[in-house]
Amino acid sequence: LQVGLTGLRHLLAQTPDGHHLPLFVNTGLLADITPSLNSGAEGIGLYRTEIPFMIRERFPDEDEQRVLYREVLERFAPRPVVMRTLDVGGDKALPYFPVVEDNPFLGWRGIRITLDHPEIFLVQVRAMLRASSGLGNLQILLPMISGVDEVDESLQLIHRAYAEVLEEEGPSIAMPRVGVMVEVPSAVYQIRALARRVDFLSVGSNDLTQYLLAVDRNNARVAGLFNTLHPGVLHALKQVVDGAHAEGKPVSICGEMAGDPVAAVILMGLGFDTLSMGVPSVPLVKWAIRNITLDRARELALEVLEFDNGKAVRAHVGALLEAEG
Ligand code: PEP
Ligand code: MG
Repeated sequence: LQVGLTGLRHLLAQTPDGHHLPLFVNTGLLADITPSLNSGAEGIGLYRTEIPFMIRERFPDEDEQRVLYREVLERFAPRPVVMRTLDVGGDKALPYFPVVEDNPFLGWRGIRITLDHPEIFLVQVRAMLRASSGLGNLQILLPMISGVDEVDESLQLIHRAYAEVLEEEGPSIAMPRVGVMVEVPSAVYQIRALARRVDFLSVGSNDLTQYLLAVDRNNARVAGLFNTLHPGVLHALKQVVDGAHAEGKPVSICGEMAGDPVAAVILMGLGFDTLSMGVPSVPLVKWAIRNITLDRARELALEVLEFDNGKAVRAHVGALLEAEG
């Protein structure tokens, strides 16, 4: 199988009945760019900007950020690159910006921090916009959105940064598509209102699973309860896809779930438009997509939505994939 997987690099992630499901990568490291391009990924579905912030001793300034983002955007162009605005707090700490809280995962994290510090947000968005000059492949993603006010405020800041940069640099900078991460349960129930405001949605299955199941994503003691195929998670995902599509907006998934071939087949069947995963997962997921028709994946998604247990979902779909080789 290993030899077969390397050979998939130049083949499309396409089902036997001709459905193309673009596969993207999650990254935050320049070292990942070459392997990502080599994997045959069609773009970056999640660029975690906090990673370069975490390995420094102070906030990188606008120019330092611009140079870094330029390299990522340029090397991937013309493929799309989805850059997420700073998502610190929770499990991701900046040594020079300590946040001490009793419940960090329910506290000051992601968009909450950057909306309280618009200067951090504006500098970052300006750096992204300037880095995208002449390329047109930048997309911006907002983390930890729990309601529409956060989206409206973020959009206002993005439009302000865009107007400034346009005036300074001229028309070589295109307005990027803007998307919202669906990773807080309230976003699932407000999916249509969120979708109306932005260009695309992207599910963060790591946090969405953590918050839906009340299971700390990093606590080994409860790791057995962290199950992305839990019926509660699958039904939430269905609601997200149906809501996004009802508003005519594409929806992706960028948590670890998309890199699991069993889950990937179900996600395709649920109607996700693209999947984004860690670089090493691309070949195996591509293999899975190339071995099941879209019709079968749709049937399978409907079947597993009737299951009342995530373990049974994995056993059922896993057996089917194993039968394929
Ligand atoms: C997620 O929560 O699924 C996600 C993609 O974001 P992160 O893992 O960086 O929190
Ligand atoms: Mg997250």
